[in-house]
Amino acid sequence: MPKGSCHCRAVSFEVSGELRKVIYCHCEQCRKQTGHFVAATSALNDHLTIHSEENLTWYAASDSAKRGFCSHCSSILFWRGNNSEKTSIMAGSFEKPSGLVADRHIYVADKGDYYEICDGLPTFPQSDLI
Ligand SMILES: [Zn+2]
Ligand SMILES: [Zn+2]
Repeated sequence: MPKGSCHCRAVSFEVSGELRKVIYCHCEQCRKQTGHFVAATSALNDHLTIHSEENLTWYAASDSAKRGFCSHCSSILFWRGNNSEKTSIMAGSFEKPSGLVADRHIYVADKGDYYEICDGLPTFPQSDLI
């Protein structure tokens, strides 16, 4: 069962069900909140077990979503749309081997100006859902 944690391990989690392929998000929110861009998978809330949730802080990142980070070491772990049945989980927080596979880049129109995307994966100017 895939497991992960923040850097200081005060918050850990495990996922019992299927994990989505990893999406790289280059939007301004993700840039500002991580210092670079986000690499995240996703799981149904029902399949995600968070341990020591009292060490987790949820930050209202926008009117429509919140981010979960460790209250002690500040590692960002989760992103969840308000009332969503799924939670995005930061790919780098998983223990190895994670079994994760990268799939695509989104919000490339907002990406930082100091790097190029050259891994050959599909890119989308905004969300691929639009
Ligand atoms: Zn921590
Ligand atoms: Zn983003």
